[in-house]
Amino acid sequence: MSERQRILTGDTPTGNLHIGHWVGSVKRRVQLQEKHECYFLIANLHAYTTRADSPMDVHRDCIEVARDALAMGVDPEKAAIFLQSEVPALSELTYLFAMLLPFNRVMRNPTLKDELKIKGLADNYSFGFPLYTVGQTADILAFRAHSVPVGEDQVPHLELTREVARRFNKMYCGVPDKAPDEEHESLGGVFPIPVADVGKVGRLVGTDGQNKMSKSLGNTIHVIDTAKKVKKKIGKIYTGQDSRQPNDPGIVDPEKNPLFQYLDVFVEDEATKVDIRDRYERGDNIGDGEVKMLVADAINELLEPMRERRLQYEDDAVVLEVLRSGTARAIASTEETMQMVKDVAGTGFFKRTLTLA
Ligand code: ATP
Ligand code: MG
Repeated sequence: MSERQRILTGDTPTGNLHIGHWVGSVKRRVQLQEKHECYFLIANLHAYTTRADSPMDVHRDCIEVARDALAMGVDPEKAAIFLQSEVPALSELTYLFAMLLPFNRVMRNPTLKDELKIKGLADNYSFGFPLYTVGQTADILAFRAHSVPVGEDQVPHLELTREVARRFNKMYCGVPDKAPDEEHESLGGVFPIPVADVGKVGRLVGTDGQNKMSKSLGNTIHVIDTAKKVKKKIGKIYTGQDSRQPNDPGIVDPEKNPLFQYLDVFVEDEATKVDIRDRYERGDNIGDGEVKMLVADAINELLEPMRERRLQYEDDAVVLEVLRSGTARAIASTEETMQMVKDVAGTGFFKRTLTLA
């Protein structure tokens, strides 16, 4: 068994990856793949929470998400990129974990509530919508992951995962009630209690200046956007005021003016940032246009090598081969966990010999 720390994280195939994914999670994945055992999931079953009626679109987006991750620098030799629907242990564990969680606990999750609201679902959501949060606990625990690099919105899901892991270890593995999280594995628990690894930028705001940048909200800057398109999208950002009068203090609060979060995150030179912020706040001969140009150039500088790398993966067959090999590795790892789970939870009767192409 590998001694390295195991990492699991992933994306829902609801569209192409954007710069929010980069700062919130993918950048960290590219670092972690050097030293850790990394599994990056494409959550295509979870995409059916909102897109069960468009299976071929989800199918296409799986390939797009993988291609974007590769463009951003995920190395398929080092990390396994895999498809959720092709790893049976994930669905099996979802079923079992759903039994360990009170219904009301699942529904109390603030990210779930936000999503239902933002996506305009009110009371018209499928049974599977809240179930996906339980599914996510299975995705993580199936790899007995130690750490999960994610954006801020995922922290409540991680908390649910930690609860399931603790409950399982206590119920089926004899881990004592008050055992500290770090000791669960050494005390015989099947699951380590995983931690959320939230980066410096846990929530990049979208170009609408209001919501989290999010594939489903159309407020994104994608890795596949051309330099011209990036300029155009940045140009359209509303900065919290219609027309600034000379000597008016400008709004540099990133909550109200997304340009200033982008300035902080994407412009590297500290002195430039301080200078721009200072002049803008004083209304000193600087308009939105200048800041926008600076930000657009910085984002394009980040995206250019990704656009270039993406060309190597233009052929779907090449991406599918990456997914096939990543999925095989994911199956091997999760089957090991499944055997351990079945041994202690009373669900295993026969030696399992699962053969998958
Ligand atoms: P959807 O709109 O379908 O929910 P999404 O854009 O929110 O899509 P996900 O696939 O849900 O993307 O998220 C993948 C990962 O990227 C998660 O770890 C999430 O926290 C992170 N992430 C997504 N958007 C942002 C953002 N704007 N800022 C920081 N991290 C983000
Ligand atoms: Mg999301």
